[in-house]
Amino acid sequence: MQTIDNYKFAGKKAIVRVDFNVPLDENGNITDDTRIRGALPTLKKILADGGALIVMSHMGKPKGKVNPKMSLAQIKDAVAKALGTDVKFAPDCAKAADDAKALKPGEVLLLENLRFYPEEEGKPVGIDKEDPAYNDAKKAMKERQKAFAKTLASYADCYVNDAFGTAHRRHASTAVIADYFDVENKMLGYLMEKEVKAVDNILTNIKRPFTAIMGGSKVSTKIGIIENLMDKVDNLILCGGMTYTFAKAQGGEVGNSICENDKLDLALDILKKAKEKGVNLVLATDAVIADDFANDANQKVVPVNAIPEGWEGLDAGPESRKLFAEAIKSAKTILWNGPAGVFEFDNFTGGSRAIAEAVVEATANGAFSLVGGGDSVACVNKFGLADKVSYVSTGGGALLEAIEGKVLPGVAAIKGE
Ligand code: AMP
Repeated sequence: MQTIDNYKFAGKKAIVRVDFNVPLDENGNITDDTRIRGALPTLKKILADGGALIVMSHMGKPKGKVNPKMSLAQIKDAVAKALGTDVKFAPDCAKAADDAKALKPGEVLLLENLRFYPEEEGKPVGIDKEDPAYNDAKKAMKERQKAFAKTLASYADCYVNDAFGTAHRRHASTAVIADYFDVENKMLGYLMEKEVKAVDNILTNIKRPFTAIMGGSKVSTKIGIIENLMDKVDNLILCGGMTYTFAKAQGGEVGNSICENDKLDLALDILKKAKEKGVNLVLATDAVIADDFANDANQKVVPVNAIPEGWEGLDAGPESRKLFAEAIKSAKTILWNGPAGVFEFDNFTGGSRAIAEAVVEATANGAFSLVGGGDSVACVNKFGLADKVSYVSTGGGALLEAIEGKVLPGVAAIKGE
């Protein structure tokens, strides 16, 4: 496989897929530029080597239509500032051949939002899945997607994918485009390389004990990854909102807590599987409950299986925090996805903070820790601990799919698989 370090960019044009899907305020100002900063090592390397850059990204969900609120023109100056050089802008990403052709070594062209074209995502628009004509529309759109990808590919000599956040999608710019470059001329960017290596560390290079912490709101959205992890981990901490589905499945009273009543059997099945596989499943034993879903609600600590009506569990209790910390501090490999409570409320951050602190301590003692999935990243950022874990992934869905063992189309396309 070609690598960004081995490739000779001098005199070449590189088309680079980045994730510049940054949050903007109502005036179009960037409120968090983490994603732009994340792509800089790759972009700067290509420029420093004497290459020219064609940078492409999506922003938001314009659903195949031009929408000025999601125009990348709004971030052009910020990108220029971050790169320390001028950035030209192509207002139509599918009609940028002339602009691309005119680029000289060291110059940068930013393409308009790829998702202004439905071809980027490749899903037929304006037709229902139930419609008998849907399959034909889908086939036709796949052909249009190939043509769109081919147009983008025609702008450059090589293709670099540095957008891990969209690597689990087979979109024109994330995967299909790679078909138009031979293996020598396509590669992962630095950010992608780092992400792929971090996942690899978790999946193949496991130092034991391996503790995974899965939190968040629901068991249903995490079931794929929980089942996959069951074959790999020594300790599995299941916390957050899913606590109450497990508590109820085992006959507990959970009051008004978030609970998936149609997943009670699934919860029992997970308990059984953990036993069969010898996995130490760690569930909360007590909860901080509240009489309202609000930061300033009244709160008290009760066992997870004895929550009165009118009250709901919003955080893991002190006894649970100790159990979690024990399973984390002894670990040599740690994966954390999803908070232990409603960490957005300052009065219900204790469980998530206890986890974060234990992960930090284990990392200081030599463990490899990967934190990923939107909310857990927000959580470590909130506690100011992001730089004290081994790796914070930029991927949400992509990270979870990779850890589930699924092949990411964006990575497979580069490898020529
Ligand atoms: P997810 O997107 O599934 O990872 O869920 C993250 C969300 O789960 C966060 O916004 C948390 O506020 C929420 N969450 C965690 N614990 C609870 C709980 N006990 N009750 C309700 N929501 C929760």
